[in-house]
Amino acid sequence: MTTRRDRAALTPQHRVLLDELGKVLPAERLIFDPLRRLAHGTDASFYRLVPQLVVQVRSAEEVADVLRAAGRQKLGCTFRAAGTSLSGQAISDSVLVSVVGGFRGAHVSEGGEFISLEPGVIGAEANALLAKYGRKIGPDPASIGAAMVGGIAANNASGMCCGTAQNSYRTVESVKVVLADGTRLDTANPASRAAFATRHGALLAGLSQLRAEVLADAALSDRIREKFRIKNTTGYGLNSLTDFEDPFDILTHLLIGSEGTLAFIAEITYRTVEEHPHKASALMFFPDLGTAARAVQRLKAGQVSAAELMDRPSLRAVEHKAGLPPILKTLPEAACALLVEVRAADAAGLKDRMADAEARVADLPSLAPITFTSVKAEYEVLWDVRRGLFPAVGANRPIGTTVVIEDVAFPMEHLAAGVTDLQALLRSHGYPEGIIFGHALDGNVHFVFTPDFGPAAGVERYRAFMEAVATLVVDRYDGALKAEHGTGRNMAPFVEREWGHKAYRLMKRIKALFDPDGILNPGVILNEDRDVFVKDLKPLPKTHDLVDRCIECGFCEPKCASRSLTLSPRQRIAVRREVARLGATHEDGERLARLEDDFQYYGLDTCAADGLCATACPVSIDTGKLTKALRAEARGPLAHGIAGAVAGHYAGTISAARAGFAVSTLAHGLVGEQVLSGLAETLHAATGGLMPVWNEHMPRPARTGPLADVVKGRDAKVVYFPSCVTRLWGPARGADDERGVSAAMMSILEKAGYDVLFPKELPSLCCGLTFESKGFPELADQKCAELEQALLELTQGGALPVLCDTSPCIQRMRAHFGPQLKVYEPAEFIHERLMSRLRFVKQPGAVAVHVTCSTSKMGLGAKLQAVAQACAEQVVVPPAGCCAFAGDRGLSFPELNAAALSGLRDTVRGCVAGYSNSRGCEIGLSKHGGIPYQSIVYLVDRCTSAPGGEAHA
Ligand SMILES: Cc1cc2nc3c(=O)[nH]c(=O)nc-3n(C[C@H](O)[C@H](O)[C@H](O)COP(=O)(O)OP(=O)(O)OC[C@H]3O[C@@H](n4cnc5c(N)ncnc54)[C@H](O)[C@@H]3O)c2cc1C
Ligand code: SF4
Ligand code: SF4
Repeated sequence: MTTRRDRAALTPQHRVLLDELGKVLPAERLIFDPLRRLAHGTDASFYRLVPQLVVQVRSAEEVADVLRAAGRQKLGCTFRAAGTSLSGQAISDSVLVSVVGGFRGAHVSEGGEFISLEPGVIGAEANALLAKYGRKIGPDPASIGAAMVGGIAANNASGMCCGTAQNSYRTVESVKVVLADGTRLDTANPASRAAFATRHGALLAGLSQLRAEVLADAALSDRIREKFRIKNTTGYGLNSLTDFEDPFDILTHLLIGSEGTLAFIAEITYRTVEEHPHKASALMFFPDLGTAARAVQRLKAGQVSAAELMDRPSLRAVEHKAGLPPILKTLPEAACALLVEVRAADAAGLKDRMADAEARVADLPSLAPITFTSVKAEYEVLWDVRRGLFPAVGANRPIGTTVVIEDVAFPMEHLAAGVTDLQALLRSHGYPEGIIFGHALDGNVHFVFTPDFGPAAGVERYRAFMEAVATLVVDRYDGALKAEHGTGRNMAPFVEREWGHKAYRLMKRIKALFDPDGILNPGVILNEDRDVFVKDLKPLPKTHDLVDRCIECGFCEPKCASRSLTLSPRQRIAVRREVARLGATHEDGERLARLEDDFQYYGLDTCAADGLCATACPVSIDTGKLTKALRAEARGPLAHGIAGAVAGHYAGTISAARAGFAVSTLAHGLVGEQVLSGLAETLHAATGGLMPVWNEHMPRPARTGPLADVVKGRDAKVVYFPSCVTRLWGPARGADDERGVSAAMMSILEKAGYDVLFPKELPSLCCGLTFESKGFPELADQKCAELEQALLELTQGGALPVLCDTSPCIQRMRAHFGPQLKVYEPAEFIHERLMSRLRFVKQPGAVAVHVTCSTSKMGLGAKLQAVAQACAEQVVVPPAGCCAFAGDRGLSFPELNAAALSGLRDTVRGCVAGYSNSRGCEIGLSKHGGIPYQSIVYLVDRCTSAPGGEAHA
């Protein structure tokens, strides 16, 4: 939480800036408390700078305001997209201007040939929009699931397939930008160009002058052309001066790869590239790097889309993975592999390309027969090998060390020699764990190693190693020290060495033309400090076993429900690391106490603990587990006593809680929505969030009725365990169907001809989820074991299927129960067992389906959708994501639920109702979606009849 002292802690200039910005931006988008400055300042690099101020911008006007105000104070501003950069270019000790949460505009035009994107759009989201046209954006960094367009363009990021032909530099059509002085330009708009030419004629003339000078110097022009023959992101894209004549074109292309040091990119229009639907891959094993390099040269002359080189240590790092060829374990020391991909528009084309690639390498010595596979499941296993390389080293590194991924390119003719020399350098500098892999078609290799920056000697060893790398790559092979990842702070001291004095001076003149006061990302790309690459190294101390392997890559962030409200998983971990560091060093007790205090709300209270972050994490970290563990550690004896009593008297607790809901339902009827809602909000605030906020979608108490066995001697039998949630919460007041979920479920089972058995001790049974999420793991396990025992008895050791109606509970049961019990989610049970026993009649109009986190983690989203499609003419499925209701957390911290569902209303507009499989989630979905959400079983019940009967939809 921000305090007055936080403002006082800023530098005088930053205080002035803060006050100025306070007049034009909402206070909640100006962040300067210690916890969030640290958290938002974190990026994927191994550098750490803590910004004085984080400003969240939503429009080009706001960016212009920020830059003008910062310019008056001569304060540095660093733009921030997803913060997945690796070279230290996305961090700041001054002002961090973040697009996260805004700048989400995207527009596809001319049948998918072009796409205009604002900088906050994630690369994968852009590709999802283009998929139906068979197109995609050209740049394809491995981080495309998290990286945003602003960062992709400003880093000129590229990946396995795009090479130098389809990167942002080659595929940009036009840009909208904001210059350091706040001037805006749309290079596609003639009026904007004319206005800009009037005001910034000197800049345009300066660019033309630079071009003229370069063209007049044949040696320099040749050097520029030569250097961009391979991938290169060291320094500015000087090829803009040789490739383009029009100063607006030069400006546009200089911005690509400029790492936020020349201007802010407010929108970029790309020419899109074809996304071939037919793909095949082959993993080729060669006896040595020289043979592999010859294979690459030949394949490059053909039509392969990717050729990923992996050295022997790389293969060793993943050889234990399931599904990989056994040969991996027996390869000789000098061996290496090439993972080759071909793509085509149709099956016949694919066949030709496979045959062509095979023929090109047929006479080269290989360690295993070369065969392509076009079976997705098979080639995905091969690509998992390649994808698993970086995480494999990151995950296995000693705690406290840093994982560094470097990114160089050799001219193709030196690829084999360059990689061999790099292998030797890694070993001779004490990095035996180092592995080398990369995009061989572009001569681009990454090497991953794990230096220990704790002791000074570790830093000095890294310095010596990087100096040796520069000598090798630049002096011996005239390669590029950064091929894809950008210069940042990491390679800034080496830019002149790679490019030479003349070209370096050109770069300085470019910077001066765009940003004469040097306020845009100072210290990045050009930096006179020779030591900057070994300064401000990020400490990664041990903090908790559950998250110590985190490499702070940021891949988890798009999954997180709380990221726009409080913190992302990566930010939670970064704060815990700082807490651990301060605790160990006793450096600043006051700061430590403040971080601990603030972490309660930002880190713990507002984590939905759904674990969706783990689904995107390359090292499988579930930050939700950390949250639960920290919540558990914080529970005192009194809380344990109360929770123990609740667990021991569970039946009574549920019935008392049901009575509580009855009171609130009655009050709703008596005093009305607005009054009750106002009262509840006051109480919520007064109790520090302990008393939940009421909303009109709050459930009535469940009218479960007597849940008696239905035994008619039919063959089909199921054990039904209605969760505590559906036993407690009924439908919302005013819902069309006033029955509880179990009544609707029973109706379907009756129509389908099922006998139904209930556990005898049902009122006292629970899967333990509530206890787990509230920080009582032992009680949670105890309740879960009781339930398993009861179900084992009733199902006669698992002979009968078990049906439950609440997806998070089902997921927990599946995770904790032994293999005998098969627990079904309702849509899954209907899909697998009831579809053929029911007659479906589709209802008119559109319905929405919400795939809960647990449903998606159990892989049941498609079945839920299929069941809904059997019932409704049109089914809308918004992108999967956590709604953050999180059991009942959405009641205590309604702002979390609101933040997670802020876009829902627009997505489900036009739907008559929404359906899901978790009663808690449905409360928040109804409130924020603007349509009533219920369990999918109501829809199925309404749209089905027994085979001989009539459905009423
Ligand atoms: C595990 C891992 C794998 C990676 N793999 C690849 C890869 O295969 N290829 C590759 O090229 N990179 C890779 N990267 C690096 C990085 O992900 C990419 O360069 C990515 O494009 C950065 O995008 P971002 O949204 O994270 O940008 P950020 O890191 O937030 O910013 C990148 C740069 O752009 C500037 N910037 C951001 N927004 C704007 C804007 N609107 N206007 C002007 N400047 C702006 C920032 O100031 C910064 O200098 C990888 C990173 C990780 C962690
Ligand atoms: S938790 Fe995983 S995905 Fe998130 S930053 Fe850490 S390593 Fe990356
Ligand atoms: S568990 Fe959910 S809310 Fe918590 S950090 Fe992970 S994704 Fe975010």
